[in-house]
This record gives sequence, C-alpha cells and structure tokens, in this order.
Amino acid sequence: MRIGFIGLGNMGGPMAANLLKAGYDLTVFDLSSSAVQSLVGQGARSAASPAELARADVEIILTMLPAAQHVKQVYLGDDGLLANVQPGVLLIDSSTIDPHSARDVAAAARAHGNPMLDAPVSGGTAGAAAGTLTFMVGGEQADFERARPALAAMGKNIVHCGAAGNGQVAKVANNMLLGISMIGVAEAMSLGVKLGMDAEVLAGIINTSSGRCWSSEVNNPLTGAPAARGYSGGFGTDLMLKDLGLASEAARQVRQPVLLGALAQQLYQSFSAQGNGQLDFSAIVRLYQEQ
Ligand code: NAD
Repeated sequence: MRIGFIGLGNMGGPMAANLLKAGYDLTVFDLSSSAVQSLVGQGARSAASPAELARADVEIILTMLPAAQHVKQVYLGDDGLLANVQPGVLLIDSSTIDPHSARDVAAAARAHGNPMLDAPVSGGTAGAAAGTLTFMVGGEQADFERARPALAAMGKNIVHCGAAGNGQVAKVANNMLLGISMIGVAEAMSLGVKLGMDAEVLAGIINTSSGRCWSSEVNNPLTGAPAARGYSGGFGTDLMLKDLGLASEAARQVRQPVLLGALAQQLYQSFSAQGNGQLDFSAIVRLYQEQ
C-alpha cells in the first residue's frame, strides 16, 4: 500500500520509519530537508510540497505536525492537501490539536470527498521509535478499520473513540489529568520529605496505597527515572503546557469548568517562564523546593 507522510519531526520521523520497516511504499514531505533526506535514506520517496504529495498515487496520507495552525495550513492552504488530493484518499492527522479544529478540518475533508480521522498518540518519542504508541482515533468506523493496519505498524493500542474529534477529546482529557496528578504527587512527596520521611519509602507506600497513579509509580517526581537524570529528556514541560492549553481552550468553548486544569496550566506556565520548559514535566516538584 502507498502512503504519504507529512511532518517528520521527533515523532513523525520514527513513525514514518516504522511504516517503511513494515513494507509500506512511503512518500514524505517536511519543511526540513534533512528530515526528508533521513527518510529517503531509509527507502522513502520525497515530494517537494504537500500539493505534490497529494497528487502522488497514495491511498492514505498521514500528518504529524506541531499545532493546529500547521494542520490547517497543510490541509486547507492553496498549496495544501485538500486542494490537490483525489477524493477517496483517507486522511489521518496524528498531531495533537484542539477537538474543534480537528472537527473543522475533518468536515472540510468530508465536503471534498475525503474521509478523515483524527488519531493523536500517547507514548512519546520512545513509543514512536519502538512502534508501541497508543492511537486515540476519531471518525467513522469503516475508515478506522481501513486505517488500522497502517496504525498497527506504528502502535500497539489502536482505540476507536467515536466520531471525528473524539481522538483529540480523549487525548486532552487524559493529559489534563496527567498534568494535575503530577502536581498532586509532587506536593504530597514534598510534604512527606519536609516532614522527615525518606522519599523512596514514601513512594513505596503511596504506590501500594490509594494515592497510587502513573505520576507516583512510573514517573515519580522525586524517585523516578527523569529525577535521576536531572529531568533531562522525557515529556517536556512545554509539551505539557501545550496540552493543558488545548484542554482549557476546549473547555472554554463548551463552558465546562476545569478548575484544577486551569491551575495546573498556570503552575507549568510559571515553571516554564523560569526557564524550565525543556525539563521533564515532573520537575514541577522544584516549585515546592527551597531554592
Ligand atoms: P516536532 O516539532 O519535532 O516535529 C514537527 C515536524 O513538522 C517538524 O519536522 C517540522 O519541520 C514539520 N512541519 C511543521 N510545519 C510544517 C509544514 N507546514 N509542512 C510540513 N512539515 C511541517 O514535533 P513532534 O515532537 O514530532 O510532535 C508532533 C505532534 O505530536 C505535536 O502535535 C505534539 O504535540 C504531538 N506529540 C508529541 C509527543 C512528544 O513526546 N514529542 C508525544 C505525543 C504527541
């Protein structure tokens, strides 16, 4: 099967490489020519623009772009996908964007005769490289079934979340909870240590008690792997800040209160403004530590 892939960054690069490894015939485009050349070196063809890629003889086009503005440009722009693609080609956007933008782009694609899925991922760059991502997919069931084999070449859990935009809904709800729970764990761990407890012992108690969650167990802000390497790598504070911004914006549009989500957003924003945007988001525990 022939697939087009646009957006070959930290996530898209290894995802495209996994499609090649699975035997797909891949045509790629990115604004970065070095990103394109890396995939060409692994066996992909290159296109000179989204328009050229859209006119190539592909059955599916995948995009993995930074934010909604890039997605709109690539899909809706004069030199973009919809202005150039054949009706019937399946379009899949795996970027993390707000659900309303995802629904707008999917509606424009449908009006053009192209089925579209939103399929954001969790699992980070390690999951992208290992081909173990979780895909949260919004769109028609039949289109989901058509996309599943290609998604399975890049991910382990492929979940249909309902209608268009629902993949993004699942992603923002989960990541808002993650951002909040990390701050909760940071606060509780800091309190325990300040009161004289050993961090490892406290983490062990929490992780066999009712406070246990991913933020306490897998990515504990004091005893986890990111802490042990000075919070370098991992899931960056600025990426968490982006996802909390999407959650707040989506909540605003439907007048849904997200009180802790908004507070979490402000805390990560303060932390980022102090120059910590690249640190793993569990470094938020430093807000609780004496400088
Ligand atoms: P990135 O910045 O590394 O890659 C984005 C790529 O898109 C770049 O190579 C850039 O050149 C390209 N690009 C931008 N505008 C373009 C355009 N108009 N045409 C063609 N190419 C264009 O970002 P990333 O870390 O790969 O993240 C991609 C998406 O995945 C984001 O929406 C992000 O929120 C989401 N995500 C990231 C992670 C992570 O851990 N990095 C995890 C889950 C989800």
